[in-house]
Amino acid sequence: MTSASRTRLEPPVGFRGAFRQDEDALAVYSEAAGIGRVIPLSVAVPANEDDVAILVRWASEQGVSLVPRGSGSSMAGGAIGDGVSVDLSRLRTIEDADRDARTIRVGAGALRGDVDRRAQLVGLRFPVDPSSGEFCTIGGMVAANAAGARSLMHGATRAWVRALDCVFDDGTLATIRRGGAPPDGVAAIRRFLGGAHRRLLERRHRSHPGVLKDSSGYAIGDYARSRDVVDLMVGSEGTLAVITAVELSLAPVAGARASLLVSFPDLEHAVEAAVHAREHGASACELLDQTFLAIAASSSHPMPVTPGVEAVLLVEIEAADGSAATAMARHLHEAFTAFGADRVIVALDPEQEKALWSLRHAASPALARLDPRLRSMQFVEDAAVPPAALAEYVRGVRRILAAADTAGVIFGHAGDAHVHVNPLVDVRRPDWRQTVERILLDVTDLVARLDGTITGEHGDGRLRTPLLDRVWTTDELRDFRAIKDAFDPRNLFNPGVKVPLPGQRAVDVVKYDPALDALPPRARDALALIERERAYGRFRLDLL
Ligand SMILES: Cc1cc2nc3c(=O)[nH]c(=O)nc-3n(C[C@H](O)[C@H](O)[C@H](O)COP(=O)(O)OP(=O)(O)OC[C@H]3O[C@@H](n4cnc5c(N)ncnc54)[C@H](O)[C@@H]3O)c2cc1C
Repeated sequence: MTSASRTRLEPPVGFRGAFRQDEDALAVYSEAAGIGRVIPLSVAVPANEDDVAILVRWASEQGVSLVPRGSGSSMAGGAIGDGVSVDLSRLRTIEDADRDARTIRVGAGALRGDVDRRAQLVGLRFPVDPSSGEFCTIGGMVAANAAGARSLMHGATRAWVRALDCVFDDGTLATIRRGGAPPDGVAAIRRFLGGAHRRLLERRHRSHPGVLKDSSGYAIGDYARSRDVVDLMVGSEGTLAVITAVELSLAPVAGARASLLVSFPDLEHAVEAAVHAREHGASACELLDQTFLAIAASSSHPMPVTPGVEAVLLVEIEAADGSAATAMARHLHEAFTAFGADRVIVALDPEQEKALWSLRHAASPALARLDPRLRSMQFVEDAAVPPAALAEYVRGVRRILAAADTAGVIFGHAGDAHVHVNPLVDVRRPDWRQTVERILLDVTDLVARLDGTITGEHGDGRLRTPLLDRVWTTDELRDFRAIKDAFDPRNLFNPGVKVPLPGQRAVDVVKYDPALDALPPRARDALALIERERAYGRFRLDLL
């Protein structure tokens, strides 16, 4: 990369935030948490929503695209692109929570952990709890329809969004409110309601109806049910508008909790037990597969599981008070034993619970100690299948990895039949790229055969958008294009996400490729720090 060889852009007139085109700034925004790297054209950091509107009008005049981003913790390449990288993390105001209405209004760049802490001050919480919650933004969560372990009970982000402030393609700023009339004077919404809207209401078939979580494509099923533009905007991954502020619903804090760690000799029994846990009100039910347990066992973490088991479930219960939690834990203990569990450990106080849940993080230190050329890559990391197909999916993934002579770690949200897979790719092998592509296509075909979705919570990004035709019908792909054309006819917002560009490849520049040109040292050190310390919530320009 040389900045001299790149078009130099004059910053938008009246723009108050940072606007940078130096090599360090471009490089530090060229990556997010996934495998991709794309050097942006420039970096813009709006100071407020007026800046966003100015930027959108300017981009439209200049004919350049905008790639919105929050913390850049997403894995599918939706937050990187060759347009102007728009860092929304400075829009981070958090108003006091309204205890009576159970709502809170925040800037799109507010971090989820900070929002939850503010809600807790009045006995409420934001119950969508991604593992990245301390460092991902609310705007990023809305854009990806992020979820977490407790989405089993509380649902994904969509269910908690009451209103969104958005800047549309002509620079108009408007609020869309759940259940409210569409705002006047927004050409994008008028175009949508005049055309694509009808297509969606007429659509009878919907792909992968049996999955419990879906962040792929636009939310055409949810929209057809609610006819609410909020539902369509959630999960649109920065392709329809830029979100500047969000009003969220809040839930009361849980009265009491309990947890169980359960070892199963085989996957099928674990899956049956997970279905039971979901149907009996568990708030979380996580799967640790034998691949995960093998890596975790190589760390110094104590292994409270029966040796040789195929699967472990970590189950959490939320209840009104301690005695209700204890009663539920007792019921699940008995049920899991009846489902063939080898060992059940019950934790009834927060310290014991923390110790049980620490197993979920036990693979990370061992993965960090791996030979640096063996890279844990997220490119098949987010499929969800109908619950009855979960065991077949996990076994299928293991077979695909073995056929590619590639180790991997499989874990995830058993209650939602939603599985994370981190293949450990040896980038010394001359065929490593073909191996990645083979695994990606084979896993995608497996997902399609099981009528699953390729992304349960992380989104399609640039990685999965070229694969959408394998898991959605031609009519549904036309719906996606019609939605995009209505909201963003000039392809200003995040082109190549949700609707593929001609010739777009799923696996393009991979940041782990040893043959890549080195990034400037300061940017490289900043990116290494972000990845090592999960410092996605730090302002990138401050790290240079
Ligand atoms: C260690 C780790 C654990 C994770 N665990 C989870 C998990 O448990 N559950 C889960 O769902 N995800 C998880 N993720 C993925 C990621 O954290 C989520 O997708 C999160 O919602 C992304 O938020 P962000 O602020 O980083 O957004 P970014 O990565 O910056 O952006 C994500 C997408 O949203 C768009 N976008 C961002 N802000 C805006 C905006 N204001 N307006 C319009 N579009 C916007 C971007 O264009 C992009 O397409 C994890 C990631 C990591 C690294």
